[in-house]
Amino acid sequence: MPAVEMLRLTSSGTEAAMSAVRLARAATGRAKLIKFAGGYHGHADAVLVEAGSGVATLGIPGTPGITAGAAGDTLVASFNALPEVEAAMMRWPGQIAAIIVEPVAGNMGVVPPAPGFLEGLRRLTRADGSLLIFDEVITGFRLARGGAQERFGVTPDLTCLGKVLGGGLPIGAYGGRRAIMEQVAPAGPVYQAGTLSGNPLAVAAGLATLDVLDDRAYRQLEAAGARVAATLQSAANAAGIAITVNRVGSMLTAFFTGGPVHDYATARQASAAAYASWFQRLQAKGVSLPPSQFEAAFVSTAHDEEALAFLGRAMSDSFIGLRLAPAPG
Ligand SMILES: *Cc1c(COP(=O)(O)O)cnc(C)c1O
Repeated sequence: MPAVEMLRLTSSGTEAAMSAVRLARAATGRAKLIKFAGGYHGHADAVLVEAGSGVATLGIPGTPGITAGAAGDTLVASFNALPEVEAAMMRWPGQIAAIIVEPVAGNMGVVPPAPGFLEGLRRLTRADGSLLIFDEVITGFRLARGGAQERFGVTPDLTCLGKVLGGGLPIGAYGGRRAIMEQVAPAGPVYQAGTLSGNPLAVAAGLATLDVLDDRAYRQLEAAGARVAATLQSAANAAGIAITVNRVGSMLTAFFTGGPVHDYATARQASAAAYASWFQRLQAKGVSLPPSQFEAAFVSTAHDEEALAFLGRAMSDSFIGLRLAPAPG
């Protein structure tokens, strides 16, 4: 990842995002953070505000245990809504330390960035003197060898990594421009450490994973993702069920809604109850989807022809007779 000139390993994505935010605040001398509704950046206090993933699934508004002080500097905008970001920057001039964003949202279901959205965040942060943090814990090494930043051609100041990076073992990492990363201790004054950070077991698993992720693997992932999305769509069409399939590479979500899904509010128009029935049906047929309308499904390199054909057969009648509960208010 060309934007990552220097890197610090951690044991989880939560630590990576938490540390990147701390570093951004230290590097800019500013306090405020902009995140997006439905964006999930681990469970550190500052980013557990209007968060996606399990928080969205359980319908918890924020979560108890987080003080107003810890969350008070976190501003929330709608994903894909540049005017909201611009308005926040006008309202708090010179006070925004960073924008943290999943470049392809994966924790409200998959929501791709609208054309120009990531470029807009880059332009606005540059003009404002704030930092752009890409949380690539899901997208890193999944969408491309160089992550979403390679795929979309937008360079952040800091990048958070995890998940694929550890090949199934616990790991996280954050990195970016040398001048910023050199402020982390011991080179600089921003403290961050961890007993198991960079532990040899997780790093060996991660390196072995990166070894197999060559161009061929990414072509395979792209083709398999497209095939699963097409299978889903045609099975739903055949059953007369309106779904919206969002997909980027090997990440995809079937939203049980007829309308487009471009942010958290539109994601929440989907029927989580219908998704749950569908999930249970497929599970009975031996297909494990994410257990929530608000999490991404991933195709992996282990999904070979046989697995994809099995999936296609399981999907074919999975939508028939599903009842769509009314969307939540
Ligand atoms: C999973 C996730 C995290 C947190 O990573 P953990 O290893 O679970 O702590 C952070 N950001 C994003 C985008 C994630 O999907």
